[in-house]
Amino acid sequence: MSQYDVVVIGAGPGGYIAAIRAAQLGFKTACIDAGVNKAGDAPALGGTCLNVGCIPSKALLQSSEHFHAAQHDFAEHGINIGSVKFDAAKMIERKDAIVTKLTGGISFLFKKNKVESIHGKGSFKGKNGDLYQIEVDNKGEKSLVEAKNVIVATGSVPRPLPQIAIDNINVLDNEGALNLTKIPKKLGIIGAGVIGLEMGSVWKRVGSDVTILEVLPTFLAAADQQIAKEAFKYFTKEQDLDIQLGVKIGEIESKKQGVTINYETADSQAKKETFDKLIVSIGRIPNTDGLNVEAVGLEKDERGFVKVDDECRTNLPNVWAIGDVVRGPMLAHKASEEGVAVAERIAGQKPHLDANTIPFVIYTDPEIAWVGKTEEQLKAEGIEYKKGTSGFGANGRALGLGKAKGTVKILSDAKTDRILGVHMVGPMVSELITEGVIGLEFKASSEDIARIIHAHPTLSEVLHEAALAVDKRALHG
Ligand SMILES: Cc1cc2nc3c(=O)[nH]c(=O)nc-3n(C[C@H](O)[C@H](O)[C@H](O)COP(=O)(O)OP(=O)(O)OC[C@H]3O[C@@H](n4cnc5c(N)ncnc54)[C@H](O)[C@@H]3O)c2cc1C
Repeated sequence: MSQYDVVVIGAGPGGYIAAIRAAQLGFKTACIDAGVNKAGDAPALGGTCLNVGCIPSKALLQSSEHFHAAQHDFAEHGINIGSVKFDAAKMIERKDAIVTKLTGGISFLFKKNKVESIHGKGSFKGKNGDLYQIEVDNKGEKSLVEAKNVIVATGSVPRPLPQIAIDNINVLDNEGALNLTKIPKKLGIIGAGVIGLEMGSVWKRVGSDVTILEVLPTFLAAADQQIAKEAFKYFTKEQDLDIQLGVKIGEIESKKQGVTINYETADSQAKKETFDKLIVSIGRIPNTDGLNVEAVGLEKDERGFVKVDDECRTNLPNVWAIGDVVRGPMLAHKASEEGVAVAERIAGQKPHLDANTIPFVIYTDPEIAWVGKTEEQLKAEGIEYKKGTSGFGANGRALGLGKAKGTVKILSDAKTDRILGVHMVGPMVSELITEGVIGLEFKASSEDIARIIHAHPTLSEVLHEAALAVDKRALHG
C-alpha cells in the first residue's frame, strides 16, 4: 500500500494546482481523479473546467464570434467574402483538440513535478493511526492509499431540474450544450446565468432561435445593476436574444421531435413552447457523490458543501477542501488559489486570500466583468461612496476593433477614495478587470489609477477615464 504526505481527490483546477504546489513544496503527493475523456475511453485530468466548462465554452464562443464577424462585420473593413457557411461539427472538433491538448498538459505537469496521478474514484475508507485511508476504484479494480493530509477537490455537477431528466440528447446540461454538432433551429435555455448566457450567445450567433427563461425577476442579480441593465439591452435589443425574466416553469415534456415547456410569464400569461433542444443551466451543486464522508465523519453543510473555515480546513485534522465543493463562488481561479493556499498551509506557511478580490467574468459579447462591491451592496451596507463612469463609445482602440460599446464604473470610498468595486461591460473586459483586482488587492485609491500612465490607444484608457471621473476630472467625458 502506498503512503503519501498529501493526497488530493479531484484533478480540476482546484485539485491539480493543489497537487503541483504540494509537490513543489517537497511533499510526496498523489492526485486521484475519476475524469474520463469525451469518448469515455481514457483518463482526462482537468475536471469540469478543462473538459466541459471554462475552456471548451470559450473555444465555442470564439468560433461563433468569428462566424458572426464574417457575416456582419467584415464588409465594413472592405473584406467581401460572399456567403459564409457554418460547420458546427468542425467547431466542436476544434474545441475537442484544445481540450485534449490542455488535459494532456496536466499529465505532463504532474510528471514534471513528480505528482503521482492515480486514475479512479476515491472514497474515504477509514483511518490507520494518523493516516487517512482512501480507496481507489478504477472500474472495479480496488486499491488503497494512505495519506497524512487529504485535500478534497471533487468539484460540482449540474443542478438537476425536478421536471425533467438530462439525457444529453434533447435535454442538455453543459456537457451536451458543448457538443451539439448540428445547429438546433429553436433552442430553449432554462437559466440566464453565466452558462446560459454564454451557451445562448454561441448558438444564437451561429443561427439558432434562442429563448432563455429565467425564474428570477432580476437579470444577473449578483452583478452591478447599471452594468447588468446595459448588458441586457445589448443582448435583447441588438442581438435578439429572447431573455424572459420572472417566469414560472411548469411541466416539461421531451419527445423525439423536441422538448415542450409549459411556463408562466412574469405578467401571468400561460405559455407553451416547443424547442428542438433544451439546455438546463440552473446552477451547480457540490459533488461529494461516492466520497463516503461518513467513514471518517467529514461534515457537510445543509446545502451539501463540505464545511470549511476561511482557510479551507474541514472539521477533521489534516483534511482540507477547496473549489466548487466548498462555499464561495464556483470559479476555476478561486479553486486554484485555494489549492495553492492549502498546500502552503500544510507546509506551515501563512498565505492569505481575500474573497473580496475574486474577479467575476461573463464571456458574452460584450463581456461583463467585475470585482469588489456593487453599488447595490454599498447602499445596503450603508457605505458612502463616489463613482466614476466612462464609456467605450469614443475610445480609439475600441472603435478600431469595431467594438465600441460598454461602460466601466469605479466605486470608491467617499472619504478615503479607496477603490471598493470595479464593474465593466465592454470589449475584452475579462482582461481589463485585472487592473481592478490589483487596485483592490493593493488597496489603491481611484486617484492612484487616475495617475497611472495607461498606454494609448488601449481599452484600458476607459478604466483610466472612469478613475478620473470619480474626481469629476474626466478628460474625454
Ligand atoms: C460551461 C461552464 C463554463 C464555465 N466557465 C468558467 C469560466 O469561464 N471561468 C471560471 O472561472 N469558471 C468557469 N466555470 C466553473 C469552473 O469550471 C469550476 O468553478 C471549476 O472547474 C471548479 O474546479 P474544482 O477543481 O473545484 O472542480 P472540478 O473542475 O469540478 O473538478 C473536480 C474533479 O474531481 C473529480 N472527482 C469528483 N469526485 C471524485 C472522486 N470521488 N474521486 C476521484 N475524482 C473525483 C471529477 O471527475 C473532476 O475531475 C464553468 C463551468 C461550466 C460548467
